[in-house]
Amino acid sequence: MVYLKAIEAHGFKSFADKVDIRFDAGVTAVVGPNGSGKSNITDAIRWVLGEQSARSIRGVKMEDVIFNGTTDRKPMNHAYVRLSLDNTARTLQMDADVVHITRKLYRNGDSEYFINNDRSRLKEINELFLDSGLGRNAFNIISQGEVDEVLNAKPDQRRGLIEEAAGVMKYKLRKKESERR
Ligand code: ATP
Ligand code: MG
Repeated sequence: MVYLKAIEAHGFKSFADKVDIRFDAGVTAVVGPNGSGKSNITDAIRWVLGEQSARSIRGVKMEDVIFNGTTDRKPMNHAYVRLSLDNTARTLQMDADVVHITRKLYRNGDSEYFINNDRSRLKEINELFLDSGLGRNAFNIISQGEVDEVLNAKPDQRRGLIEEAAGVMKYKLRKKESERR
């Protein structure tokens, strides 16, 4: 199993100060008043894993993830999120005990991804997570309303979810790619 060890964020949504959130083994609960940034943590996870839809992380445009300033703080120029994943079980196909995934976005629209310290493309991040049970579309972040969505899904959509969980998605994508050539 891969597990999330830490999230570092700076300039992402309400995290104007750099935050370093550590997760120990077991269950972690995040508590706080309304609007204090709890959901921004899960948004950060989705985002760094490659979320492309601003709406899915409760924005209108992607730039909305960058800290927008408050009465006494200037807006920031970029958003940064880094996940640290425990890979001692080698679930991710990388010979490293800890895998870091980083995403940065600048106001001018420039965007960067890194796997450990190597500049990467989104495609490489998607491939790394395929069939790992992680990834932005995998079943590890279940938001309000998604339970209903699964129950109301059409049979072929539901089949897609089961295939992702069962680990055959990688082969389906490769088949599709080779058919296109
Ligand atoms: P609830 O208990 O109501 O679900 P929550 O703890 O999940 O609340 P979030 O939705 O994570 O709260 O945080 C919302 C806060 O994040 C709001 O105060 C909003 O102003 C702030 N926020 C979102 N995007 C930005 C941004 N780009 N810049 C600054 N603040 C932002
Ligand atoms: Mg919330």
